[in-house]
Amino acid sequence: MAEPYDTLLRVQELDTELDQLRHRIEALPERSALADVRGRIAALAVAIAELQARVDELAGRQAALEEQIAASARRRHELEERMRTGGVTASRDLQAMDHEVAQLAERQHGLEDEEILLMEEEEPLDDALATHRSAVLELEAEEARLTEAVAVAEVELRAAIEVTEAARAEAGAHVPAELAERYERLRSHLGGVGAARLVGNRCDGCHLTLPSVEVERIHGLPADTFATCPQCDRILVR
Ligand SMILES: [Zn+2]
Repeated sequence: MAEPYDTLLRVQELDTELDQLRHRIEALPERSALADVRGRIAALAVAIAELQARVDELAGRQAALEEQIAASARRRHELEERMRTGGVTASRDLQAMDHEVAQLAERQHGLEDEEILLMEEEEPLDDALATHRSAVLELEAEEARLTEAVAVAEVELRAAIEVTEAARAEAGAHVPAELAERYERLRSHLGGVGAARLVGNRCDGCHLTLPSVEVERIHGLPADTFATCPQCDRILVR
């Protein structure tokens, strides 16, 4: 059995090659690595936003404390000034002012201690933020590298597809329309394989063995008619 069946098998080979090339574009390992890296960057962005919100909240509380500390210091200074310049002479008043100064100093220490606690609470958050941010920078560099690798691989594969498509079109032009139609129909619903060779007594499409009487019948067919596999229905090329 020769033409157009050998050419049909060549078309099948080229179609399979094209399917594989197109699949390789979709399944580039760099592409899934890129999706993974982008997922990790997005997760870090969420973690960074959460940490930043907590740091901002602590900073807000710290600013409020500092305001209270400053107000308390101003009031104390004011009292001390008045006591120093001798505007107040009654000992009862002086005693009350002295008492208030002491209270203010105590309050200021208390506020300062609170502020130190807030700063201690913020420290590990700042460390985590710095670690996350440097991880994002590393991942962004990796993202750029993978994006480039995907682009390079795509260009190579598309060039190979173009060459194979041209060969496929050239070979396909030699297959009669009716046979080509049947082949396309089979190929579309049989996993991309519409024509297969009969190898010994085995169909190379479904890999099943044909009964010997069937193999004999197929070999006895006139050269211009084609056989189909009784198991998978593909065009069988002798
Ligand atoms: Zn078969």
